[in-house]
Amino acid sequence: MEMKNQVKNYLQTNDLDIGFQDLNDLVINKQNCVFCGSCISLCPRIGMNEKKPKLLEYDPECSTCFRYCPRTYFPTEMFEKELFNGDANKSYSIGHYQRLVAAKSNDETILKRAQNGGVVSSLLIHALDSGLIDGVLLTDKDDNWYPKPVIARSSDEILSSVGSKYTISPTLITYSEAIREFKLEKLAFVGVPCQIHAVRKLQLSSPLSDEYGKFKLIIGLYCFSNYTYDLLKTFVQGELGIPLSIVKKFDISNGEFYVYLKDDSVKQVPIKLTKQYAWNSCQYCKDFSAELADISIGSVGALSNEWNSVLLRTDLGVKTFNSAVETNKIIISDKVDLFKIEKTAFRKKTRITQINKKTLNTMRLLDISEFEIKTYTTLMSLGQASESLLSEIMKVEEKLVLSVLESLKKREWVILTNGMYNCVDPSLVIRNEINNLRKIFLEKIGKLNKEVLPNLEAIFVRNNINQLRHKNEL
Ligand SMILES: Cc1cc2nc3c(=O)[nH]c(=O)nc-3n(C[C@H](O)[C@H](O)[C@H](O)COP(=O)(O)OP(=O)(O)OC[C@H]3O[C@@H](n4cnc5c(N)ncnc54)[C@H](O)[C@@H]3O)c2cc1C
Ligand code: SF4
Ligand code: SF4
Repeated sequence: MEMKNQVKNYLQTNDLDIGFQDLNDLVINKQNCVFCGSCISLCPRIGMNEKKPKLLEYDPECSTCFRYCPRTYFPTEMFEKELFNGDANKSYSIGHYQRLVAAKSNDETILKRAQNGGVVSSLLIHALDSGLIDGVLLTDKDDNWYPKPVIARSSDEILSSVGSKYTISPTLITYSEAIREFKLEKLAFVGVPCQIHAVRKLQLSSPLSDEYGKFKLIIGLYCFSNYTYDLLKTFVQGELGIPLSIVKKFDISNGEFYVYLKDDSVKQVPIKLTKQYAWNSCQYCKDFSAELADISIGSVGALSNEWNSVLLRTDLGVKTFNSAVETNKIIISDKVDLFKIEKTAFRKKTRITQINKKTLNTMRLLDISEFEIKTYTTLMSLGQASESLLSEIMKVEEKLVLSVLESLKKREWVILTNGMYNCVDPSLVIRNEINNLRKIFLEKIGKLNKEVLPNLEAIFVRNNINQLRHKNEL
């Protein structure tokens, strides 16, 4: 409770003396923005172009955009405590969940149009019909597959947004309109994991609403990576020569990128060809299964692409899903492969960001071994890890990792809290190292002046007295 109030206070504090410029410097220009649309919706002075939010007019430094951005301060632990009460299973790879199940819609129309088993759309329609929600923020598209954030308030509107758009979308941009113009009270949201982070902040304490949150049901989609619109415009239309207006569906499955055309033909290419169009910040993202959603839904782990795998996380998620099953909107099966989901999620969580060779070589100036540097940078990539996880990922004995972590701890490069190691902020690490280098250097200069110079001078004078006399005479 204490922590929750602290976070709420932080979200409500307006005198931080920071504004859009800080968001720009720390998030947008560092290619850390996930283009969720939250800042754009919260502030009339922020607009956007195709790839990023931008300031439209004078910024009074109110700091709302900075506080609510999912890529600034994010208290994961607090949200986990609030949402899961310690009741659910906890997995390193996929987070807290109460139950994993395979499911699909019981409605043929939905099944025909949906990306996989249509569970997302069926659940939303059920939640709307049963009065749990009165609207939902979704991601539709135009005729050229350009993503289009929409507010759906009927089952027809939900159905028109079915299907995955493999393009980053500012889905939350419609939030303000949904509560201010449509006066929606009980919103649902569907989105990829990074968007769920933004929604949880808004749900905790929204700057646009006096009531406690306007978001009710939060459905997360599994997501390994997402793309800029260039994937469709430059790659699919340009390189593959497929006009976007004739595409029925895109899919990513088993290492392949599929383009389904309206004439029922299919084009498929290896996923690695699409890599250069990936959204920048996706390569640092660790959340595959939308760990903070009420319900997370994907296809990996299900029997086939016509089914969904569903992780029921919060009590609200379990209750909503069960009632959709009880009323025959959704059918379930226990044929679901937890190991496959965990494996995919583990792969994403343990992706290592390679430090470039020049930086690595220069770091050796600090008189630190290559293995120590590697341990520090691996830990930085993971965010947080135990020695056993590090040893598994680095493929070295745990004993060795532990001894290096001990030495890094002494050097104040890492800290240990509750059995988990974290990297100390590199600006502190390097400042400390520079101070140490300066101390060592000053000590060396002092020794040279006090101990070495007088001795050498004495020897020199004693042995070269003629030369000195000669020099003086000259
Ligand atoms: C970018 C992206 C990457 C994904 N990666 C994986 C993966 O690696 N493995 C996996 O198993 N599943 C992945 N999924 C999830 C999968 O594609 C399906 O969305 C999921 O199985 C639900 O299927 P469904 O038939 O129930 O959805 P539907 O009933 O068809 O509903 C789909 C919903 O997704 C929403 N949506 C579509 N595109 C976006 C978007 N760009 N941003 C936010 N919301 C969107 C729509 O609003 C719609 O409500 C990904 C989805 C997306 C959008
Ligand atoms: S709030 Fe969303 S769109 Fe705005 S800077 Fe942060 S991540 Fe980007
Ligand atoms: S990979 Fe991560 S950052 Fe990228 S869209 Fe998916 S959830 Fe967001």
